[in-house]
Amino acid sequence: MLSLRFLIVSLSLSGVLFTIGNGYYSTYQLQKNLLIDVSLESNRVYAEKLAHMTESFLENAKSQLGTGAVFVAPMLERKVIQSAELQLGLDQIRNMSQGFNSVSILDRNGVILSISPKSIRLEGSRLSDSITNNFEVSSAKFIGPITGPTGTYLSFLSHPIFSKTGEYIGDLLGTIYLHENRLLDRLLSQHGYVDDSYVYVVSPQKDLIYHPLKNRIGEKVTNNEVINRVTKGQSGSLEVVNSKGVPMVTGYAYVKESGWGIVAQSPRATVLKELDRQLWLVMKQAIPMQILILTFIVGSAYFIARPLRQLAQSTTSRDRTIKIKAWFYEAYLLKKVIRKEIDFLNEKVSRFDEDRKKDALTGLMNRRAMDELVAGLVAQLTPFSVIFFDIDHFKQVNDEFGHDIGDDVLKALTRIVSQKVNDEGILIRSGGEEFVVILPGKKPQHAIDLAEEIRVLVEQKVIPQISRPITISLGVSSWNHTMEEGDAFKRADLAMYESKNAGRNRVSSRFY
Ligand code: GH3
Ligand code: MG
Ligand code: MG
Repeated sequence: MLSLRFLIVSLSLSGVLFTIGNGYYSTYQLQKNLLIDVSLESNRVYAEKLAHMTESFLENAKSQLGTGAVFVAPMLERKVIQSAELQLGLDQIRNMSQGFNSVSILDRNGVILSISPKSIRLEGSRLSDSITNNFEVSSAKFIGPITGPTGTYLSFLSHPIFSKTGEYIGDLLGTIYLHENRLLDRLLSQHGYVDDSYVYVVSPQKDLIYHPLKNRIGEKVTNNEVINRVTKGQSGSLEVVNSKGVPMVTGYAYVKESGWGIVAQSPRATVLKELDRQLWLVMKQAIPMQILILTFIVGSAYFIARPLRQLAQSTTSRDRTIKIKAWFYEAYLLKKVIRKEIDFLNEKVSRFDEDRKKDALTGLMNRRAMDELVAGLVAQLTPFSVIFFDIDHFKQVNDEFGHDIGDDVLKALTRIVSQKVNDEGILIRSGGEEFVVILPGKKPQHAIDLAEEIRVLVEQKVIPQISRPITISLGVSSWNHTMEEGDAFKRADLAMYESKNAGRNRVSSRFY
């Protein structure tokens, strides 16, 4: 059976645990969403910023190339090719822009006439049609990324060169290899935040043109939502799972000049790692308070259940001495009612017990009580003496005065004899108009003397209702442990009949 204490504890406990759990859960959810939102936004802003800087870098590079094209045009016209002067010009263009890995002059057929840095040594070789087909005769153009002549994955910026007369005579070509680009690489690899965040760049064809893992450069990624969006010219932020299955918090921005997409992203787990740590810290701080609350609950449950437990105990044992601290109203009421009920029951039971042993008319012990008393004395081997007596000619009293007066006479006799017996012995109405006196521990002679004294007293007392005294006949005997239990009674009875037969109003005794 479940106890009240258990019920209170489990109820309060589940309430408290639910509240605590719910509190942590909602705080966690709130903080998590907040953190991810902040992270999304900061990645978006970062990608945007990088895109702007790349944009202006490319614009700058384009205008440098334009200036360079005007600068080298007279030399090309004069066919000053592979000369120190032209080389110096190209080196200047390359240094000024800071952005090109190499700068070369091509003739109108795509043959490299001169290249900076000189060390590349590609003069005289012809670029593949895949590059030259993209050249535009009217303006600068971004090409790529394409695998360049040296095997690296390159983007190109081409600018046509025109003669004084406006004739197209060749191209100025800048190559951009992001990983070796003095300006862009620094920009892309040094992002403003620590942890596992990184930046990558995709071409309009969804090829990776910049990635912290160099071996992935050139890889085409078509199943990435962010790449799909950014190559469509969109900027924004998104939570995605990257190609390795890691959930990422991503910001992306489009570079109009080149059609590139710049993506800045952080692993979701890294973003949330701090949150987990914080939450654990908060939980740890809350533990002592929670232990205190739980102790309080268990203690309260104990104190609330205690009076009821005590009441339950007191009802099952009917023990009124069990102390009950009824400190709250319901327990107090219950205690009062139960106490009253127990008292009532106890009183009823003891009264019933008394009635069972009592003679209704005289209030004396009855035969049943006498039997119990004698059984007790015999069990303890306590010797006792016994006096039997019977009213003489009581039938005549009844006949003369009526049964009710007869009852009064019985009561009057009881009063008279009780005075004499006092607490020496116990007076018992054994039936009708017959009485017994039990004298525990009294010697036979003492009993004989007492019997005589009773006889004399009775014969002397006038009973008012009948205006005369009555007489009684008595028989005396005694018991000790050498006898059978009933011996003394048989003998006393015999002795009493001896008194009757001998003329009544006398004492006889029989001990053997
Ligand atoms: P003896 O004992 O001297 O031989 O004569 P007795 O008349 O007393 O004896 P008996 O046994 O013949 O009569 C006893 C009478 O006691 C009969 C009955 O009416 C009366 N008696 C017994 N119990 C009661 C009682 O409770 N009230 C009244 N009023 N009379 C009772
Ligand atoms: Mg009789
Ligand atoms: Mg009689």
